[in-house]
Parts: sequence; C-alpha cells; structure tokens
Amino acid sequence: GANRTKNVLILMSDTGGGHRASAEAIRDAFKIEFGDEYKIFVKDVWKEYTGWPLNDMENQYKFMVKHVQLWSVAFHGTSPRWIHGVYLAAIAAFYAKEVEAGLMEYKPDIIISVHPMMQHIPLWVLKWQGLEKKVIFVTVITDLNTCHRTWFHPRVKRCYCPSEEVSKRALLDGLEQNQVRVFGLPVRPSFARAILNKDDLRVELELDPVLPAVLLMGGGEGMGPVKKTAKALAESLFDKENGKALGQMIIICGRNKALASSLESLEWKIPVKVRGFETQMQKWMGACDCIITKAGPGTIAEALIRGLPIILNDYIPGQEKGNVPYVVGNGAGVFTRSPKETARIVAGWFTNNSDERKQISENALKLAQPEAVFDIVRDIHDLACQPSSSDQKKSIPPSIKLISDLID
Ligand code: UDP
Repeated sequence: GANRTKNVLILMSDTGGGHRASAEAIRDAFKIEFGDEYKIFVKDVWKEYTGWPLNDMENQYKFMVKHVQLWSVAFHGTSPRWIHGVYLAAIAAFYAKEVEAGLMEYKPDIIISVHPMMQHIPLWVLKWQGLEKKVIFVTVITDLNTCHRTWFHPRVKRCYCPSEEVSKRALLDGLEQNQVRVFGLPVRPSFARAILNKDDLRVELELDPVLPAVLLMGGGEGMGPVKKTAKALAESLFDKENGKALGQMIIICGRNKALASSLESLEWKIPVKVRGFETQMQKWMGACDCIITKAGPGTIAEALIRGLPIILNDYIPGQEKGNVPYVVGNGAGVFTRSPKETARIVAGWFTNNSDERKQISENALKLAQPEAVFDIVRDIHDLACQPSSSDQKKSIPPSIKLISDLID
C-alpha cells in the first residue's frame, strides 16, 4: 500500500570519501523531504557479505591510487564491457548466495547504487529473485565527467548523471533517454541548505577573525602534494618585511593520520590548524576564502556551493581527470601541480588580486547545484509511487545464462 514505510538500500563503499558523502546526502534528503515514509540503510554489502576481492576494495583502491600507474591500467584496462562483464560475472557466481542474503536482509523496495562496481551483481541478484520489476534499482553517478563504464547498466530504472558530459556517455553506452536524468552531484543537505555566517564560524572553529583563510585538503584520504603545498604557503603568506602573516591556513588531512602527525610536528610562521577527518566540512569551507584540493568530485561540488575559488593540485587518473577541465573551463578555479605556483596564486588572491578571486568565486556559485540531491530523491519518490508489476515467479538461470546477462 501507499502508506507503508518503504525500505531504501543505498550501496556504497568507503573508497575515498566521496561515495559515503553522496550516500549520506541522499539519506538526509529523504529524511527532510519525506520523513518516516522511507527507512534508509546505507551499506557496504561487499565488505559485510563477501570475501576477497570484493570485501577488500578499500585497501585495493588505496594501494592502487598510491601507485597511480597501476590504477591507470586498472581503470582503462577494465573499460571494455566484455572484460569487466566477465570479471564481475565470475565474482558474482562465486559470491551469489552471500550477496543475495546481504541485499535481501533489508527487504529493499528501492536500491540506490552510488558506486561504479555496484550495478551488475545486485541487478543480477534481483533478476534471479524475480524481483527486477518489483524493486526499483537506480544509479547515482558520483563522477563529474570521465567516469568508468561499469557505472552504466542498461537495466537500471534511472541513471542520475551529475553533468551533461556524463549523460552523453550514458547514452553512448546504450542507456535510453528516459532512463537518464541530469540534476547534479548530490551534496549533503547540511551543506546545500545551511545558512552560515563566516564571522560566527571563525569564532566557533577558533580561527583568526580577520586574516584571509586558505583550506588545504586531499579528499577523504588526504591525498596529493599536501605537505609540500603547506610549506610553500607558509612562506608565501608570510610578509618578511613587516614580520606578519598575510593569511591563515587550515589543513584537513582526512583519514591520513601519518600526514596529520607529520604536519603537527612542524613549526609555522603563520596561523595554521591541522585537522584529521572532519564531519562538518560545510563549516570549515564556510570559514575559508579559497580551497586547494585534488580533483575529487565531492569536494569540488561542495566548494562550488560555498563559492570558494578552487586550486586543483592533483587528480586520480581516470575518473578524476575530467574534473579538471570542468572546473577550469567554467572559470571556477585553476590547475597546477606545483606547490610554489599554488602558494604564489593564493598570496596574490589575498593581496593584490582580490578582484580575480571575487570573479572566480562568482563563477563557482553559478556552477553550483545545491538542490541536486533533492531533485534526485523527489524523482525516486515519483518512481516509487507508480504502480509496480509484482508477483513475478522466481527463476534460477543457469550460470551460463548468468554470464551472458552480465555482459550484455
Ligand atoms: N570529507 C570529509 N571529511 C574530511 C575529508 C573529506 O567529510 O575530513 C569529505 C568531503 O567533504 C567530500 C568527500 O569527503 O564530501 C571527499 O570526496 P571526493 O570526491 O572529493 O574525494 P574522495 O575522497 O572520494 O577521493
């Protein structure tokens, strides 16, 4: 019936910080828009129910992005559909029972995947269970541009694309126009709708009330040339002649504990705050005047909402590469791998070039899509309100059929 609480299972994985942030954004938006109508479960089904390699994606991913060449090969090498199709089919056959149990435990009415590897196997389980028409399966893509092809599956009800570029790729890969929607990248409502006052935030976060502030970070894992950049900034933001600071620096290291402790042990000439994994990113961004980060889609989307000029200093090959032209081409930031150049640009923005900083900030705000997550959950709600064709028979396809299903 229409009034029954519906179960929503969000499939994510803690590779980086972006998938979790998107999952939480969707969960929170459901709560705000629809209250108790939906019960939301955010799960890493692989980690909880399978063995290697699926339960170890976090570590494999961390290892591979540290050795970027490896990741590049993994990303591009698995792009042809027959390669990832066969690979995923083999794994699916091996862990079918466990994954099925993992998915079905939550009796989902709706499954939302926010991960490139979580289309094929869950959709196959649904088909096996005869639930393909009953359970609504949608994908929310969290890469802004150059995303991997495993994101696209022809049997999803909807594929939510964060940008026109991604929707073009979806259509090229065989999805139909009526499956594709472009609303933007989901950002946590605490970000999107928060009304924040910079002066208040600076008091709350114990920052200098007047000095311009630069936020330096590297995604959930604290990646990229953070330490070198911090050192260069400490030089460029110190006015030697007058012996005073031109700005302050906040460094958020995420889960990179080694980075945090090594930065904490240094002496700084300007006010510096070193933090670990922060849960209130909207406050730190709201208190700052510009941001330096690797090209993570989550961080970029959030910085745009806050109108922060962005300096991109790194990207993960493959899925993050296209985020660079997305930001730079729209005038919302610049790209440089050089810590010295980064430091020079920030010092400029904080002294002579404040007009340039304002212009970039305005461009960023124009690109921001704070309402995207609400558009997505409303569209899913509309799907859930449509009558479904239930009572299908369970069928167990032979494993050969299974493999061909996964590949097509
Ligand atoms: N993040 C956070 N706390 C931290 C560091 C990062 O909440 O201490 C969030 C950040 O706000 C963003 C996400 O983690 O939402 C990072 O996602 P992104 O796509 O930028 O990069 P990833 O970590 O997935 O590579």
